[in-house]
Order: sequence, then structure tokens, then C-alpha cells
Amino acid sequence: MIEERFDAIVIGAGMAGNAAAYTMASRGLNVLQLERGEYPGSKNVQGGILYADMLEKIIPDFREEAPLERHLIEQRFWFMTDRSHTGMHYRSDDFNEERPNRYTIIRSQFDRWFNKQVQAQGAIVISETTVTELVSDAYGKVIGVRTDRSGGTVFADVVVLAEGVNGLLGARAGLRPTPKAEHVALAVKEMHFLPRETIEARFNLHGDEGVVIEAAGTISKGMTGMGFVYTNKESISVGFGCLVSDFAANEETPYGMLENFKTHPSIAPLIEGSEVKEYAAHLIPEGGYKTIPELFGDGWVVVGDAAQLNNAIHREGSNLAMTSGRLAGEAIFQVKSRKDPMTKQNLALYKKLLDDSFVMKDLKKYKDMPALLHTQASNFFLDYPTLVSKAMENFLRVDGTPKIEKEKASVRAFRQKRSLTGLVGDAWRLARAWR
Ligand SMILES: Cc1cc2nc3c(=O)[nH]c(=O)nc-3n(C[C@H](O)[C@H](O)[C@H](O)COP(=O)(O)OP(=O)(O)OC[C@H]3O[C@@H](n4cnc5c(N)ncnc54)[C@H](O)[C@@H]3O)c2cc1C
Repeated sequence: MIEERFDAIVIGAGMAGNAAAYTMASRGLNVLQLERGEYPGSKNVQGGILYADMLEKIIPDFREEAPLERHLIEQRFWFMTDRSHTGMHYRSDDFNEERPNRYTIIRSQFDRWFNKQVQAQGAIVISETTVTELVSDAYGKVIGVRTDRSGGTVFADVVVLAEGVNGLLGARAGLRPTPKAEHVALAVKEMHFLPRETIEARFNLHGDEGVVIEAAGTISKGMTGMGFVYTNKESISVGFGCLVSDFAANEETPYGMLENFKTHPSIAPLIEGSEVKEYAAHLIPEGGYKTIPELFGDGWVVVGDAAQLNNAIHREGSNLAMTSGRLAGEAIFQVKSRKDPMTKQNLALYKKLLDDSFVMKDLKKYKDMPALLHTQASNFFLDYPTLVSKAMENFLRVDGTPKIEKEKASVRAFRQKRSLTGLVGDAWRLARAWR
């Protein structure tokens, strides 16, 4: 394919791969980036919220030309039953700032733009090329990759695995285990197109302001999962995801769950009359800190979803991907600048930088949360939303019943579903996992 030997080969042109390739190429390294999709972004799915701070650290003036949709001024968290939602909303005019903090994006457009910046820094990018395996020397050091192109073996000092959640190459090479079904969510997403004014009227928005809704409750039928609604300029992303193991155990289909979510009385009016133009399905690594594999070795590092770096509690993934890609690129640059070899010992610098960053600190903080939500799914996703909804209805419905009786009825309903000890136990487990 290419005779030349590279300083680094990056596998994948998603958020992590682009961040790594940009960081290395902009520091003068000779970088080859390989992407299996027709173009960077063609295979990538995200709700999606872009966290500006992490991109600013790579491309400070990205706002000038990146394809951004809406800057977010409002977040709604909805606790849902089949007919109601109890909401916690935060909206602030402070988010209408000069350099907004979060934006909605459409990944196929955004990744393409991001990759153009990578190319502008001098990296060679080849799309429609699948890396089929890693090439190692007699001592097990990764020295290059084999691709599906004829004569497609290329060599480099270091390989950055940014291949996304499946991590097939890393697993095939024995560098990491294959993710388990209980550690991975399957999410499906549709793009609903509507006139810009309709979106702004329905969500109470002006100009490029945006809103996102994150929803959990009986809509996931007792499984660990969530729905979401994100406003773009002329479309609304609507999606739903649950753990793969839950889908298998409950014989529910992702598409069936999304259809159900869309017909919910709180969701249907938001997308009424829209034209659906895109449908996509993708995995999300949700096992958290305890499922992070070895992150570096002789001649390789792994970044982004491929390294399971995803904060499911805060719905953050792309920012962890960009940060890990950037830090891997910086570590490789430092090792290269010292003219040291890309050994496991030297590449440990990447892990050190990552440990010192918010990425590992956040994931470590919530290390018990994924398992808790999974094992207590019917409490958190069925019982409590139902009880909260009943209590709210009881509180609001005026029918001549004395308030004291209403309060007693709400407490009785809680006690029937969950004993006081059960309730305290769940609260304690949640607080411990959150601490
Ligand atoms: C429905 C959904 C909604 C989400 N919403 C959000 C959100 O709102 N905010 C957020 O921050 N995160 C969100 N995420 C998570 C976020 O999308 C990921 O964390 C992020 O995309 C990870 O980036 P990555 O570069 O590691 O992997 P990816 O973006 O998956 O990129 C991997 C790339 O590698 C390529 N590739 C794979 N194998 C090979 C191979 N063998 N050879 C060559 N190329 C290969 C793929 O084609 C792909 O381009 C969401 C995810 C989903 C599925």
C-alpha cells in the first residue's frame, strides 16, 4: 500500500482517532490514519452533545468553522412512567455566552470537518481501508498493521488503536478482552426533520439555542436504559439505548423500544409531523472504570471507546475520546522527542497523563455505579418512577380529599412497593456509588 514507515499509525477517524492524529501531526510527526468508512464520520453515531472545552484544547478556534448545530442552554431530566413524566429542568441565560460550553452536532458532518483539520496538519488519511490485524515482531512488539488492501501492510513506531467500542483488533491481538454484553449498551437513533421555527417554538428557543432531554423510567421496561431528545438546527435526534444483556434477557428489540418512546404522550408532540431521514444503531461502552483494559504496551496505545472510556452516568463519551486521543498523542510526541523507543515502559506516560486528567478521575469516582444500576434496574427504572409519578399526581389532583390523607396514601404506596429498609438500602447504595 505505502512503502514509507510512519512515526505513528492511527486506526479509526472518530473523535479519539482524530484527536490523536491531529495532536501528533500538528507537532510534526509523520502520521498515517486509516478509516474503514467511506469517509470519516460515515460510520459514527452520537446523540450528540459536543463538549467544547475538550475540543478547544486541540483546536482553540474551532467555533469559527466547525459544523455546530445548537449551543445548549437547557437540560431536562425526565423521570417517566408510561403516561407521565416528572421533570427536573435547568435553563440558564448564562449558557448564552461568547464561547458556549456544549453544542449539539451531527457526527457525520462533524467528523468529516475534524478530519479535514487533521489532514491540514499534514497527516495522511486513507478511508475505505479496514485494518484487519496488528503486525508484531518476534518479541511481541506491535510494529505495524495489515489492511484489506492488496499489499496493505504498513509499519510505524507506534500504533494508536482508536477503533471504537467493539475493539476487535485489540481483542484479536490478545491486548484486551472482548466487552461483555452487560457492559455495553445498544443505542438506536433517528433524525426527525422539522422546520427550524417549529423546533424553536416547541422547545422555547431563540436563534441557535438548544435543549436536550434525557429520560429514564418505565419506558425501559425494567431494563437499564435511557431515551434522549436533542435539538439540532433543523432536526431532532431521538434515541433509546439499553444494555445488550438486558435486551437479550427480556427479548425486547431496540427498535421496538424506540418506537414506544416516540409514542409516549410527552415525546410524541415534540416530533409530530416530522420527516425521519436517518436511522442508526451503535454500541456504547457502559461498564465504567472496572472494565478499562490495559491502555498501552510495546508499540501500541488504545484510546476512546476502544479503551471503554465512557462516563455513562453523565452521558459523556466524545470528550473522553478526544482527551484520551490528545493525551496519547502528547505522550507519543514526548517519547519521540527524547528519541526513546516506543516501549511499554515509555508509553506508560500516556496512562500517567490520563490518570491525572478528569477522564480517569471521573470514571474512578463512579466505579460502582454501572453494576448498581444493572443489578437494581427494576427498582430504579420501574418502581421509583412509578412511585414518584403517583406521589406527584396525588399532590396535584384536587378532589376534596384532605391533604393529610393524600400524604398518607403516598407514603403507603411507597411502603407497599419498597419497605423502609429497602428504600434506605437503595439510597445508601446510591450514595456510596456516587461519592
Ligand atoms: C446513540 C449514541 C449517542 C451518544 N451521545 C453522545 C453524546 O451526546 N455526547 C458524547 O460525548 N458522547 C455520546 N456518545 C458516545 C460517543 O459517540 C463515543 O464515546 C465516541 O464516538 C467515541 O469516539 P471513538 O473515536 O473512540 O470511537 P468512534 O467514534 O466509534 O470511532 C471509531 C472509528 O474507527 C473506525 N474503525 C473501526 N474499526 C476499524 C478498522 N478495523 N479499521 C479502520 N477503521 C476502523 C470506525 O469506522 C470509526 O470511524 C453517544 C453514542 C451513541 C451510540
